[in-house]
Amino acid sequence: MASMMQPQIILLKEGTDTSQGKAQLVSNINACTAVSDVVRTTLGPRGMDKLIHDDKGSVTISNDGATIMKLLDIVHPAAKILADIAKSQDSEVGDGTTTVVLLAAEFLKEAKPFIEDGVHPQNLIRSYRTASHLAIEKVKELAVSIEGKSLEEKKNLLAKCAATTLSSKLIGGEKEFFASMVVDAVIAIGQEDRLSMIGLKKVPGGNMRDSFLVNGVAFKKTFSYAGFEQQPKKFLNPNILLLNIELELKSEKENAEIRLSDPSQYQSIVDAEWNIIYDKLDKCAQSGAKVVLSRLAIGDLATQYFADRDIFCAGRVAEEDLQRVAAATGGTVQTSVNNIIDEVLGTCELFEEKQVGNERFNIFSGCPSGRTATIVLRGGADQFIEEAERSLHDAIMIVRRAMKNSTVVAGGGAIDMEISRYLRQHARTIAGKSQLFINSYAKALEVIPRQLCDNAGFDATDVLNKLRQKHALPSGEGAPYGVDINTGGIADSFANFVWEPAVVKINAINAATEAACLVLSVDETVKNPKSESAQGEAAASAMGGRGRGGGFRGRGMRR
Ligand code: ADP
Ligand code: MG
Repeated sequence: MASMMQPQIILLKEGTDTSQGKAQLVSNINACTAVSDVVRTTLGPRGMDKLIHDDKGSVTISNDGATIMKLLDIVHPAAKILADIAKSQDSEVGDGTTTVVLLAAEFLKEAKPFIEDGVHPQNLIRSYRTASHLAIEKVKELAVSIEGKSLEEKKNLLAKCAATTLSSKLIGGEKEFFASMVVDAVIAIGQEDRLSMIGLKKVPGGNMRDSFLVNGVAFKKTFSYAGFEQQPKKFLNPNILLLNIELELKSEKENAEIRLSDPSQYQSIVDAEWNIIYDKLDKCAQSGAKVVLSRLAIGDLATQYFADRDIFCAGRVAEEDLQRVAAATGGTVQTSVNNIIDEVLGTCELFEEKQVGNERFNIFSGCPSGRTATIVLRGGADQFIEEAERSLHDAIMIVRRAMKNSTVVAGGGAIDMEISRYLRQHARTIAGKSQLFINSYAKALEVIPRQLCDNAGFDATDVLNKLRQKHALPSGEGAPYGVDINTGGIADSFANFVWEPAVVKINAINAATEAACLVLSVDETVKNPKSESAQGEAAASAMGGRGRGGGFRGRGMRR
């Protein structure tokens, strides 16, 4: 009671996190470090995978930074920024997601001692921005163009980039096999911008080597009615009719009310219904099409009708599959069967229905306008195929990027070491505190080669010393040297074809620096305790507990 008599000044609701300034910054940095420690071990060809399972019992095995960050369900507000940059890196360039998280966390880790010593964050931010600017200029300078090569040469180079991406994945053992498949798929779609034009179909079972590329479209056989067995399952150069209408005998009982005065008229109504559908079917058959696909149902009557005329049909084809068939065969999807002109029919060299594992597939190959390709993925467990799909997605994105921007840099930490050296050298020309900050930024970049070594079980200090020495050679011939993942020494990454598109590095450096600066610019988090769900709170305090390992507890922090 006594305390209630005292005058109080309450600015914020009870339970609001009120740690401010330095303390808040350090706690945020610790949280980001904790998050990056989760993905740290997945980097590189010798990186480990993470198995993530949720309360619903679904299990995901992944090596992809963005996928892991998404599934972790991070609730710490500052650490969430890391999940966001992983996501944006994934959608911007498709690879380098682990790299971007590691870089951002390392920039922050290097900043921490300065913050603790009382350096104003804005000073750090300014130097970090300058450093990132210089780093990106340097990447651009070091990038090697693959423009102006013949198609065969270009294919070879692109396959190298895809192989580098795949080497860190579960399917890394078969990287050459999949890399050339990915390159063929990307080249097949040419200038097409829609990624959906590359279909990825998963068929569990078999060996991953049984995966294959269809230069055209493939999709799982749709549900079919009796009569389907009598239809031919293979055509050479068929005309293909694409529809968005139902070919089913419909009794109109739900849609209409008909009043009859004379019972004998009833038959005429039934006849009319049959006439309508037969009229539609006749028009389909007269169009000269040998394959009829529809997004909507094709009923038993229609199935039998087509079977009698040696026409193949499939109803309820998924929208995106139908779009791909249209793009590949040059056909146009029709919403009416009146006036089907030859121009709207598509064609391909070979249509066939084939057995793939336990499934039957409709396959259209040798399509005239190209523009689509389908990869049919085989493999043991579901989780395996799903991770394979994600990995191929990364590789596809990388090849597309490399084709568009067509400049590459040496991977395996080579580019990172070279920028680091360059920044250190540059720092020496700067007077004042900024020199220290840029040096720290340069040191942070070394996290990539160091982590590649750690994950492979090499002596990171030893390898890094060798790399520093090589990169310091005044002639500049050491620039492409990176970690040799096979021997534990150093090797010329460029000569070994460990290549990455320059845009991956540029985007990663940019995004990581921005994220680090963002975290550094926050000195207070104000939260409204009521707006949180109970679950979010529990997770937040668990995360916070780990993140605040520095021994500090914010004032007024909820226990
Ligand atoms: P991210 O999600 O960032 O792409 P990865 O696990 O794919 O992470 O690892 C990418 C890193 O591994 C890059 O720095 C790349 O240069 C390196 N790397 C890939 N293949 C090799 C290799 N054969 N030898 C050395 N380093 C490699
Ligand atoms: Mg990768």
